[in-house]
Amino acid sequence: MTVHFVEWNTKRDLMKEVNRLYDVAGTFDCVGKGDLVAVKLHVGELGNPYYVQPFFVHDIVRRVKEAGGKPFLTDTNTYYHAQRNNGYDHMVTALINGFNMAPFIVADGLRSENYRAIETRGILSEIEVAGVIAEADAMIVVSHDKGHELSGFGGAIKNLGMGCTSRAGKLRQHRTVGLEIDEAKCIGCCKCKQTCELSLPEIVNGKAINVSPLCMRCPVCSQECPTGAIRLTHKENLCRALASAAYGVLSTFVKGKVSYVSFAKDITQYCDCLPGPGEIMMKDLGIFAADSAVSVDAAFLSTIDHEVFNDAYGVDCMLQVREAKALGIEGEIKPQIVTLS
Ligand code: SF4
Ligand code: SF4
Repeated sequence: MTVHFVEWNTKRDLMKEVNRLYDVAGTFDCVGKGDLVAVKLHVGELGNPYYVQPFFVHDIVRRVKEAGGKPFLTDTNTYYHAQRNNGYDHMVTALINGFNMAPFIVADGLRSENYRAIETRGILSEIEVAGVIAEADAMIVVSHDKGHELSGFGGAIKNLGMGCTSRAGKLRQHRTVGLEIDEAKCIGCCKCKQTCELSLPEIVNGKAINVSPLCMRCPVCSQECPTGAIRLTHKENLCRALASAAYGVLSTFVKGKVSYVSFAKDITQYCDCLPGPGEIMMKDLGIFAADSAVSVDAAFLSTIDHEVFNDAYGVDCMLQVREAKALGIEGEIKPQIVTLS
């Protein structure tokens, strides 16, 4: 399976370039006349400037219409409290961040209760796929390639697995990760308890403990701990869970009805979910397009020095891609990459 690629070259008209990319990659071939087409994107947490730029999405919407489809923008609510935690706040955030070029339909509803429990394979046996995603006829998965503290990197597979599932599905995936507090490093400062939205860590005899089954592995407390005492363990489980959830999401579509566009630009330390996504980790690369999540993610990771992510987060960022392939999601671990001249 070929991945097509256009370099981020600001000496050229990037709007024209990306449309050439869509043409050669057949990005909109998945759209049939009258199809309800989900343009799955991330509208960016408020304060984060590094989500996919709206003018690209504007053009994707235009192309879906030209192909005869009825495009709508969509994303799912977060499982933690932020500016996209319910349907209302999510829609307001989408508008503030410039996503007004098509109806924005929150895929899992006002309170994340619109989902279908779908059987899947791999580390999870079932996954809660957002109802609107499950009902769509076709989907254009618009992803932003960047680092991720728990899975090494986030791209198309993460956009499917985490991004297309309800709060229950997101928690199911996150809870495959473990959390340890190193007693020797803990100074009992309470910062973890103060920053946890559920105030879960308990301070006992001057040391933090957290054995709560409600823990979301979010992982705010570990980021805030001043001594590095809190460590998330078994991150590889989340990589596998992303692939497993992605398999479930894709099983709700007819073969050939999902297409992928990934923007390797503003490649930040952390994901678009955070109001502060950290530093830019590498130079802008360009835009990838393919008909496979495995191939489009593998193409990005093979183009960069992905050890940068592995070293930064202590997890093999290729694992989610290999797992997705092993589960039967179509695509190539070493895809042919054709760069537009
Ligand atoms: S923030 Fe870290 S050092 Fe402070 S109480 Fe929690 S675990 Fe201990
Ligand atoms: S990972 Fe930390 S901040 Fe998040 S829910 Fe668990 S205890 Fe709270």
